[in-house]
Amino acid sequence: MLQQLARTESEAWAERDPGDSTQAVHGRVEERKTNAGHALTTPIAQTATYTFADTADLRAFMEAKLWGSDPSMKERQEYGRYGNPTVRAVERRLATLEHGDAALLYPSGMAAVTNVLLAMLPAGSHIIFTDDCYRRTRQFCTNFLRRFNIESSQVPPGDSTALEAAIQDNTRLIVSESPTNPYLRILDLEQLVTIARRHRVKTIIDATFATPINQRPLDFGVDLVIHSATKYLSGHNDLMAGVAVGEKGLIHALRQSQGMLGGVIDPHAAYLLERGLKTLALRVDRQNRTALQVAAYLESHPGIERVWYPGLPSHPDHGVARAQMAGFGGVVTFSVAPITGEAPLDTASRLIDALAIPYIAASLGGVESLIEQPALMSYYELSTEERAAIGIRDNLVRFAIGIEDAGDIIADLQQALSQL
Ligand SMILES: *Cc1c(COP(=O)(O)O)cnc(C)c1O
Repeated sequence: MLQQLARTESEAWAERDPGDSTQAVHGRVEERKTNAGHALTTPIAQTATYTFADTADLRAFMEAKLWGSDPSMKERQEYGRYGNPTVRAVERRLATLEHGDAALLYPSGMAAVTNVLLAMLPAGSHIIFTDDCYRRTRQFCTNFLRRFNIESSQVPPGDSTALEAAIQDNTRLIVSESPTNPYLRILDLEQLVTIARRHRVKTIIDATFATPINQRPLDFGVDLVIHSATKYLSGHNDLMAGVAVGEKGLIHALRQSQGMLGGVIDPHAAYLLERGLKTLALRVDRQNRTALQVAAYLESHPGIERVWYPGLPSHPDHGVARAQMAGFGGVVTFSVAPITGEAPLDTASRLIDALAIPYIAASLGGVESLIEQPALMSYYELSTEERAAIGIRDNLVRFAIGIEDAGDIIADLQQALSQL
């Protein structure tokens, strides 16, 4: 009787899906390996190349690479551009967190975006992307890819009719962020995948703003998830990295092109990323909670014109966000109410300058709160009219919440708003 009970308990344990924080700390528990020197942490293999014991060892490796004959050879590497054990360990952890087969790290988020698009788009093909997106991604699609005769179309996020109408015979990819930047639009992933599959088009989601703690696009049938790991995944504003997660065959193909294109992450940066990942669930949970409080506070303040936060009922995608996300993220976007006789750009700047906690800086997702006016950061070289044409208002502020105490952040906003 006792034995029977014990068996059921261990069976239940074997079937149990570990929670986010357990996975963030351990990766796949059953895959735990003894590291070199019995180190608890993943050792940093700071090496450019790997040695072979003798020529027979080299030949066995080459045979395994060509024919996959010897599985024990899968763990070893040949040269730094083709793989590194520290980097592979972090890739496995990221794949686990995103519910993907495999992951591939890149030296920055943009390296992930550009390498993936270059590898997946044949010359003469067509790509669709949503227009509220990271500015460099937009530039890469509209300017750079055109050199390879690759056309692009932009559609507004959430407009499924426009999306389906934009699909052509040569369309290969639909790329979108979710949440988008800076208006935090949330794509209905189920709808996106249904439309894309009907036309045999692959889908890519840049899920930087969500993290796997809040949303897992692969669970909805999206083909590939990309992150700027510079942001939440590493979480400490101290490294640059990017990652793509998806099905094994696709990641293998991307790995092949990475070996050719050459953009690889340094093992030390990969180690720091893994260190940051261990607290991902804790940090994101805190950032979700604080951001929701900050968003509600700002919405109630007469000095604020409008707040965009998917956790608020006023956000256009609140319903979709509630249905497909576990949390709404740490970024709050808002516009400052205009004051008669002052340019809206300047009113927003005065608010930012009066704040004590957030640093004025690009980026998001780290432990330190960061704040910026998109008009003065990513879109500085454009005129007010040009910015307005792409929806970037002069009085717009993007507040990327860190892990400071919510009470302090709100008190800081209160004192700064009282000075306007
Ligand atoms: C920051 C960011 C990128 C670019 O990543 P880097 O690591 O800065 O190269 C791409 N997409 C989104 C949504 C981002 O926020």
